Amino acid sequence: MSTLEIKDLHVSIETENGPKEILKGVSLTVNTGETHAIMGPNGSGKSTLAATIAGHPRYEVTSGSITLDGEDVLEMDVDERARAGLFLAMQYPVEIPGVTMTNFLRTAKTAIDGEAPSLRHWSKDVKSAMEALKINPEFANRNVNEGFSGGEKKRVEILQLELFKPKFAVLDETDSGLDVDALRVVSEGVNRAQEQNQMGTLLITHYTRILRYIKPDYVHVFVDGQVAESGGPELADRLENEGYVRFETATAGA
Ligand code: ADP
Ligand code: MG
Ligand code: MG
Repeated sequence: MSTLEIKDLHVSIETENGPKEILKGVSLTVNTGETHAIMGPNGSGKSTLAATIAGHPRYEVTSGSITLDGEDVLEMDVDERARAGLFLAMQYPVEIPGVTMTNFLRTAKTAIDGEAPSLRHWSKDVKSAMEALKINPEFANRNVNEGFSGGEKKRVEILQLELFKPKFAVLDETDSGLDVDALRVVSEGVNRAQEQNQMGTLLITHYTRILRYIKPDYVHVFVDGQVAESGGPELADRLENEGYVRFETATAGA
């Protein structure tokens, strides 16, 4: 078992008016095999948490720690994080002109594993993962993300998840902009990665919709840069019915 541990994490960004603290002491422990849903209102800092785990240079950790099996993640550059077994969906969001999906996937897989995947298995793995995600085979020869729709980008994100076999995945708003069919296909991909590789997942979402397809073991409500409440799946049901009003009121009155 591996453990991703976030301890009393404080993160600031630089704004025109000086530094602004966005994360105000986040603590969270995720073991491999577990799915943690992070839910919260817009602007509560969910994407900031994802970007900080990803190592985005804009976000400054002012105190606290992120460790993977005791190793200091904050000391690692972005590539080292991937090699350590972290999958960060926003890591490769960009269009890469002149680089086909096939070449990109193989190059990234080689960088992550430290050795090239065996040719014999690799092509087969790519093909079957693409089939499972209902990605048109012609995508293999297209340039990375060039002209991809929102839904296509999400599928390709999950394709990477299935092929790279990370220990932990941080998925930020994977459900946004997906119609029901795409949501089901994408969710099944995440579930396969969890079952086959005992992946631990941080599933960040504003809406409960995706939780019909990906069942969380734990649910954390994020409000104003902190975990306001943690619980089991029943907490998501409660949010589905009540929304975040209860928490917003608590913040406003604090
Ligand atoms: P969420 O993903 O929960 O909607 P974010 O992490 O995107 O929340 O944002 C949290 C807060 O930080 C918001 O108030 C947002 O305006 C602010 N923020 C985040 N990133 C930036 C940025 N790059 N520039 C200015 N403000 C930012
Ligand atoms: Mg603190
Ligand atoms: Mg966000």
